[in-house]
Amino acid sequence: MNYIVSIIGRPNVGKSTLFNRLVGRRKAVVHVTSGVTRDRIYGDSEWNGVQFSIIDTGGFSILTNDILEKEVKNQIFVAIEESDVILFLIDIKIGILDADREISKILRKCKKIILLVVNKVDNGNSIINSDTDFFRLGFERYYYISAINGSGTGELLDKLIEIF
Ligand code: GDP
Ligand code: MG
Repeated sequence: MNYIVSIIGRPNVGKSTLFNRLVGRRKAVVHVTSGVTRDRIYGDSEWNGVQFSIIDTGGFSILTNDILEKEVKNQIFVAIEESDVILFLIDIKIGILDADREISKILRKCKKIILLVVNKVDNGNSIINSDTDFFRLGFERYYYISAINGSGTGELLDKLIEIF
């Protein structure tokens, strides 16, 4: 059985950066402005001999980070359906926006396993003052990572394959 993990989050939180890191090749398009990756992108990954597939859901909205476009929501619903585990990415640098709350509302209703992944923790110190909002989203398990420098991603992957 091939496990499927999807990376979900509002535009610009670092989904494609994480995807590329986990897949190990530049398959997804990463761009400073959102709105580049339009479809779901699939990649294969492996950790400690366990193989799984990853879905990068596109960053669609070129308009705003605050309002989720219908297309984004549809992508989220499809990805949820297909996945065994969902990585819900948020951005510690920006904090929680309405779009994050909207996504968390959708995710809380679904029956899949969700790991809240706080991204852009490039330096562990930034956790200290900013994490209270994240707790309020209502997810049990969260992980601090930097998709750019890879810190925390080993622990996240350890957890992931433990769940399978
Ligand atoms: P997506 O829209 O969610 O797919 O986000 P991207 O992966 O395209 O990343 C959006 C921006 O955030 C890019 O400029 C990335 O370089 C940046 N970014 C992604 N991960 C990190 C991280 O861990 N730390 C920092 N500082 N920036 C990041
Ligand atoms: Mg992207």
